[in-house]
Amino acid sequence: MNYVAQTHMQPTHARKVFPCFDEPAIKARFNVTLFRKKHMISLSNMKQILSQDLGKDWVADHYAVTPLMSTQLLAFVVCDFISKEVITPTNVLFRVWTRREAIDQTTYVSDVGGRVLTFYEEYFNYPFMLPKQDLIGVPDYIGSMENWGLIIQREEAMSYVPLETSEYFKEYVTLTLSHELSHVWFGNLVSTSWWDDLWLNEGFANYIAHVAMDFIVPSWLPLDNFVIKSVQRALAFDGLISSHPVYVPVSNPEEISQTFDTISYHKGGSILRMLQFILGDATFQKGLQRLIRNRAYGLMVHDDLWVALRTQSIIDGKPLDVKGIMDTWTLQMNYPTVFMERKGHGIRLSQSRYLLDKTATDPGTYTSPFEYKWEIPFTYTTQKMKDFNKNEADIIWMGKDGRDVFLPRVKCGNGWFIGNIKQYGFYRVNYPEDNWYYSIVGTSMKRS
Ligand SMILES: [Zn+2]
Repeated sequence: MNYVAQTHMQPTHARKVFPCFDEPAIKARFNVTLFRKKHMISLSNMKQILSQDLGKDWVADHYAVTPLMSTQLLAFVVCDFISKEVITPTNVLFRVWTRREAIDQTTYVSDVGGRVLTFYEEYFNYPFMLPKQDLIGVPDYIGSMENWGLIIQREEAMSYVPLETSEYFKEYVTLTLSHELSHVWFGNLVSTSWWDDLWLNEGFANYIAHVAMDFIVPSWLPLDNFVIKSVQRALAFDGLISSHPVYVPVSNPEEISQTFDTISYHKGGSILRMLQFILGDATFQKGLQRLIRNRAYGLMVHDDLWVALRTQSIIDGKPLDVKGIMDTWTLQMNYPTVFMERKGHGIRLSQSRYLLDKTATDPGTYTSPFEYKWEIPFTYTTQKMKDFNKNEADIIWMGKDGRDVFLPRVKCGNGWFIGNIKQYGFYRVNYPEDNWYYSIVGTSMKRS
């Protein structure tokens, strides 16, 4: 029998553990001492600096003072687990803790954890900032929590047995850890000021974890899988009248808990992927580095990210009104359908709000500041062009003024045409019936 005492402070549980101003923007340094029986161990965010024998089988473990951090990221564990350690190439101590019986299954996670951590140090151009990173697997834990320096996960999400665990599950193990480790920089070092921007924290972690995986195991095609697992999932959910905007004001613990949903994780991640496409990979990455550098140990709201990315776009010689674009994707729910049709020798594009059920009655909980029109980064190719490698220079903008866009002299002849290449944009594309039919049978013959 293993006994484990562990915390889970997010979002508003720290106040139940000790008196505090339990809001993410009120950061503090924490001085932690944990008391335990001698046969147990204790863990917290920082490294233990002193272990004091109190007699009668009791020990007090003193921890180094934390950097400035939010209450929700504080963590304590007391248990009798054992650990395996690796030192990453950049000299970070990475330790994995589990029950004695499960430690043999953590060889993969300890190896990949170190590699992911090093990847993020390079991607964000900011070295890991704590004296160690612990990862502990707790049986029956509800999920994963990115406590700074002490990630707590469900034990199962760390287990990998060669020749026994499926490749699919190995991917899940890698993804879960990549998600949690990304929070070290985006969430912990720089934190969102309030729970209304939870989507920024979780949507970002969801997407960037796939970018990390693409670096670690590119043969899994994680960035292609993201389209199936997140973009499509978010399009399905957000096509309902009962959806909600990515950014929603929240004011009490119940409302905060409700924001941990498909919109925050999957639509949030999908629109950040779209933004990466709009800016180009290098500008996106350098803009993130700028934000992290400027806000380390501090706070951000989504507008700070838009400003950092706009500044970077100006420096890189392709200025973009990031806020003007992204507000249309975050401040109103749902998303558009672009209708793409042949007109003379060209193609006409028009946008309208997509709803799965066009007759659904809007409960009126949310109103749109843009009358359900979006700034849409449109891309396309045709049967003649067959160019599926698009970048930011290929974008045709459809504005929130809702005006149709006409593309003159498109090389498509009588063949098919297709929009939203690789589904970088968070929208659907619809066509006249004959174009749907071309794409299925490669001829203009309609079914009888
Ligand atoms: Zn997360």
